[in-house]
Amino acid sequence: MKVSVDLDTCDGNGVCMSICHEVFDVREDGLHVLQSEAPEELRQQLLGAEVSCPTQAITVKD
Ligand code: SF4
Repeated sequence: MKVSVDLDTCDGNGVCMSICHEVFDVREDGLHVLQSEAPEELRQQLLGAEVSCPTQAITVKD
């Protein structure tokens, strides 16, 4: 699954990291996407992070 984040929209609140720390990592310098090509096993967490992001910065595609 392809994961992308609009870093101009992201405000670094860490909601995505709390749902899927395998892919999202919020550090002092902002959000890092650890895997832009994430495995299928993470589908539920990724879709959960996508809908839960308060700024709708996350896009997940098959
Ligand atoms: S949940 Fe959205 S706004 Fe919050 S850190 Fe993740 S991508 Fe950024």
